[in-house]
Amino acid sequence: MNAENPSTGNEPLNFIEEIIEEDLRTGRHSGVQTRFPPEPNGYLHIGHAKSICLNFGLAQKYNGKCNLRYDDTNPSKEEQEYVDSILSDVRWLGFEPDQVLYASDYFQQLYEWAVQLIRAGKAYVDFSTPEEIAATKGTPTVPGTPTKYRDTSPEENLALFERMKNGEFPEGHCVLRAKIDLTSPNMHLRDPYLYRIKHEHHHRTGDKWCIYPMYDWAHGQCDSIEKITHSICTLEFAPHRPLYEWFIEQLGIFPSRQYEFARLNLNYTVMSKRKLLQLVQEGHVRGWDDPRMPTISGLRRRGYTPESIREFAKRVGVAKRENIIDVGLLEFCLREDLNKRAQRRFAVLRPLKVVITNYPEGGQVEWLETENNPEDPEAGKRTVPFSRELLIEQDDFMENPPPKYFRLSPGSMVRLKSAYIIKCTGMVKDSHDRVVELHCTYIPESRSGQDTSGLKVQGVIHWLSAAHAQAAEVRLYDRLFQLEDPAAEEDFKKSLNPHSLEVIQNAMVEPALKEAQAGDRFQFTRLGYFCADPDSGVGKPVFNRSVTLKDTWAKEVKKQG
Ligand code: ATP
Ligand code: MG
Repeated sequence: MNAENPSTGNEPLNFIEEIIEEDLRTGRHSGVQTRFPPEPNGYLHIGHAKSICLNFGLAQKYNGKCNLRYDDTNPSKEEQEYVDSILSDVRWLGFEPDQVLYASDYFQQLYEWAVQLIRAGKAYVDFSTPEEIAATKGTPTVPGTPTKYRDTSPEENLALFERMKNGEFPEGHCVLRAKIDLTSPNMHLRDPYLYRIKHEHHHRTGDKWCIYPMYDWAHGQCDSIEKITHSICTLEFAPHRPLYEWFIEQLGIFPSRQYEFARLNLNYTVMSKRKLLQLVQEGHVRGWDDPRMPTISGLRRRGYTPESIREFAKRVGVAKRENIIDVGLLEFCLREDLNKRAQRRFAVLRPLKVVITNYPEGGQVEWLETENNPEDPEAGKRTVPFSRELLIEQDDFMENPPPKYFRLSPGSMVRLKSAYIIKCTGMVKDSHDRVVELHCTYIPESRSGQDTSGLKVQGVIHWLSAAHAQAAEVRLYDRLFQLEDPAAEEDFKKSLNPHSLEVIQNAMVEPALKEAQAGDRFQFTRLGYFCADPDSGVGKPVFNRSVTLKDTWAKEVKKQG
């Protein structure tokens, strides 16, 4: 493991760290072993990133180890593609698993433990229908009642379970249940299922098994086999904890312990793999790595850095109560990171031609120096070409500006960043009265860094030399959903934002961006942070806007202290 987050070293402990430190102090454990246990039924999302940072981060902090364990106990929804993407996402976030393991590796052991339970009279094969079982389970206030299979003898159950395993029964014909307590106020203890029949091919065990363990029967024992000291999961599993402990106790195996924390919820998105899969399958997005998706691969394509995601996970902290985190915090973390690291470039999304009428004709070009990153002197400088025909943003000109408009308007002056002050002297319109070209003069003595003009102008805008500019496609993203909590709606897809993607086909960028490689990140001066997309072709770079420059969240964070 090698991810490093900036840390002051004296932050207060979260509740899991407190437990760990107590366990190390009392000698309950001599080291820390955690695991991240995804089911390979989809791509990982930002919620998983939180869990990854927590599990791997704890191992790192306490010199322990963290496994990646695929919870591949359900053959119907699991695929190799997901297995591969999960490991690469974990690594991209900056973590290396101590071991990469699979719950399916333990199928034989789990089977033998089930036999052990049956022998001890603590599990039975139940042929009741799912409806009958549900009906006899009772409710939290009404105790359950036994089905007629509850008192089958261990010998008979052993034989029946063997037949189950050998594929003699069709799917749904029977299940293996633990014999615990049908009157327990905790419904999870009312004789939960251990195994169900599925005549399905498994991505790793093939057709070897047709009985598959339930989550509860697998998870704690897998933890125990791997000697997981602190098994961290999300709050909804808290009621499962007594069952987790019951199995470990009955089997007399390594006493792993489960601790629950609040799952990460983010507004304006959904975060269940099932719903994300629907978005992919129904074509609402281009794929799991669509830059609008809250998946790790989507965030990566959008331009997020691993550092920004780790910092986000840290700021969110480890809570015991559910809450919804503002997506603005995630964006804030990216801005903070890229502000320090991303090189600045000029790009014009919606170009307006500017002719500098007093600049020599005949192709004169000046290469002017500009800083790559004012926040980082080591980033050095580059040169940008200045010539008679320029491009500026359409937005940076107004024919009839309101008061305090500091950009270009007829007769006004503005500074072109790292270049000259220009004055707007005229405009050319098309037959629809739209301004299609500006005429300006430049002040030769106003060159940035050696300005002797004595002029004071308020506005500074970015620009490109028309002849040198490179065409590019730019994709602007907005929230994927219009509602803060789309999952709370009956149909979460109803609140999909129809304007979540705007494609600008004919943006122009400075020549230095011609060779941008997929994944390269930049700040486009005054526009935001952008990342080159894998769709970039030779001579036609494609950029995703990762995040805008505007920063409403920063104020909030300052206010909080
Ligand atoms: P989903 O409902 O999105 O499919 P899941 O919990 O079923 O999520 P798993 O693959 O079982 O997904 O999760 C792997 C690990 O990640 C588990 O320990 C789970 O608790 C954790 N996890 C999943 N979602 C979140 C979340 N939103 N916040 C924090 N941890 C999460
Ligand atoms: Mg799950």
